[in-house]
Amino acid sequence: LEAKEEFSHKTLAMDVMRPRRSDPPLSVLTQDSLTVEDVEALITETSYSGFPVVVSHESQRLVGFVLRRDLIISIVALSPVYRLPAENARMRQDGIVSTSPIFFTEYTPPPPPSSPATLKLRGIMDLSPFTVTDHTPMEIVVDIFRKLGLRQCLVTHNGRLLGIITKKDILKHMAQMANRDPDSILFN
Ligand code: ADP
Repeated sequence: LEAKEEFSHKTLAMDVMRPRRSDPPLSVLTQDSLTVEDVEALITETSYSGFPVVVSHESQRLVGFVLRRDLIISIVALSPVYRLPAENARMRQDGIVSTSPIFFTEYTPPPPPSSPATLKLRGIMDLSPFTVTDHTPMEIVVDIFRKLGLRQCLVTHNGRLLGIITKKDILKHMAQMANRDPDSILFN
């Protein structure tokens, strides 16, 4: 069975990416306008494995990608629910609190006097997440996933972030299209 046949040239990245039109919008992080509690809320309210980082909601310019587990280690450590005593102590010591601003930028402005310390998280961000445009044929996307062993890939249009495609999204889509066991076709 030829994996490439499944997609011929018809299926495009936009047909497989999430969110669907009826879904809630993509959950993203902004590079310089979030606080520790904003990110804690995002972690609690969603279960996604990762979050694109954008310049701003208005621009939707992609800056990078952060894995949920790295966010948890860096941030949620502050919350009693996920308490990791060592991290917690470190953050307390650094003056990081719920209202601390989070920066994914290279440059971080010094916090004004008597405002909470800044949490710099550029270090946990993948600065060049794999990206395709919405018009990329899925045949090519699948090829890249296989060759690079990707878990997810971001989708853009004219430089604006539109969506995300995970390996599971591809497998599901293939199963729907071909009505066959997708694992035997794609990633074995
Ligand atoms: P998996 O697809 O392996 O279950 P995730 O749990 O990360 O991986 O994603 C679940 C679903 O949500 C997938 O359909 C994926 O495309 C979508 N998704 C992943 N990350 C995000 C995000 N940050 N915002 C919105 N949807 C997302």
